[in-house]
Amino acid sequence: MKYFRFHGNCFIVKGATQALVYDLFKSRTIDISLQFAMLYESRFLIDTYDEVLESHKQWKEPIIKLINFLIDNDFAFFTHEPENFPQLDIKFNNVKRIYSSVIELDTKSLQLYEALIENLLSFDCQFFCLIVSEDVYDHEEFEKLLGIFKESRAKWVQVIMKRPYLDFKELKQVTHDMRIVYKIYDAPKDKTIKDRWWLEESPHKFDIVEYISDSFDLRIKSKYGIEHFYPTQDVFLESQNHNPFFNLKVCIDKAGNFKNDLAFDESFGNFKTRSFHDLLKDESFKKLWYIKNDKIEKCKDCQYRYQCLSNSNIKEIEGKYFKIDSCNFDPYQNVWI
Ligand code: SF4
Repeated sequence: MKYFRFHGNCFIVKGATQALVYDLFKSRTIDISLQFAMLYESRFLIDTYDEVLESHKQWKEPIIKLINFLIDNDFAFFTHEPENFPQLDIKFNNVKRIYSSVIELDTKSLQLYEALIENLLSFDCQFFCLIVSEDVYDHEEFEKLLGIFKESRAKWVQVIMKRPYLDFKELKQVTHDMRIVYKIYDAPKDKTIKDRWWLEESPHKFDIVEYISDSFDLRIKSKYGIEHFYPTQDVFLESQNHNPFFNLKVCIDKAGNFKNDLAFDESFGNFKTRSFHDLLKDESFKKLWYIKNDKIEKCKDCQYRYQCLSNSNIKEIEGKYFKIDSCNFDPYQNVWI
């Protein structure tokens, strides 16, 4: 007896009018109709392929066509032993206390951040974004600060400069750690200069320094759309119980205030006077970590909810959650407006 099955790493997510299949191994998705998603859950998971087709004679042709398409694209398969192909366990078992941090540096007091970064590393933080929004006066201290990551378990450090405060030569001197990458905004549009920085002087032959001619905007809103989603296994798993943008993230503004996002007004004490230990006990700071898309109006009906890293703040009205910066997707019509 032949059964139709999605691979154990492929999960159906139903929206109000459309469904998506998430392939967690290949970080990709594919559209399927809501009707087919429901047919799969109510019939294909129980009955044989032939039994389901027999009871849906009028739709037989499009169903066969879709199933063949899913199999050809490696989302699904036929089997005579469906019990031998269980679904992947999607429990999110992150034991980290802080996963990522965003710090806007006060470059006049760089020495203050040495202990802060050491502290974040001791709390398991692996992803760092350091924002430089004024001249780097003390190159040696800056070098010392970035040097802390050398012996650490940090996976990735991004240094964002609002302007090219340091040129390529100076950056090269600051670090040779390939986990540290630079994004430099407001770079001159002069192509000769960009080429010189990018191609000839880069010892690594890849974009360890990325020059952008646009201005840096701390309050920039998330971009929405298929090309801006992250259908990765990590985001999917985290989204089951958390808000994947805010969860396990600590942001610190230039004055040293703890925030959920640098663009938000609300703060939760200052790193100069409050410990991470104490911050992590503060439920008001962690509130956004637990407002997953499933709990937010409109998002809970959207098929993209387990791959959407929206940085919008969330407001509560009469016990319901809403994103303040609503996106331009309408899950009830399945259209981008
Ligand atoms: S913000 Fe909400 S509705 Fe918009 S794409 Fe993301 S999950 Fe869907």
